Amino acid sequence: MKLSWWEWLPFRRWRIVGTVEFADEIPERLPKRAVVLVASGGPPKWVGFKCPCGKGHEVLLNLDEGRRPTWALSLSETGKISIAPSIDYLDGGRRCHFFLRNNKVLWAKDSIR
Ligand SMILES: [Zn+2]
Repeated sequence: MKLSWWEWLPFRRWRIVGTVEFADEIPERLPKRAVVLVASGGPPKWVGFKCPCGKGHEVLLNLDEGRRPTWALSLSETGKISIAPSIDYLDGGRRCHFFLRNNKVLWAKDSIR
């Protein structure tokens, strides 16, 4: 997938920048708050984005109800993104635990950043 230059502007809000067919087609470099959906014809199966902690690691969440754990992505009428339940990323000593509600990131207290 190709990203427009304006997607790299720093003040852009959370938004869906595109859809790819397979998760490995999600670009390695993604702008902040840019969400990529993985779907091949049907409803999206995965959602990928860079973690808002800024360390540059990717978060990939399953949206397919047939597979656990499952997250739900929803859009408000004005296009604001919510993901439920919370996103809990563990890697070695790091824990990125946050909520994305209406385009706002809320960090859980047990995060280790
Ligand atoms: Zn993180």
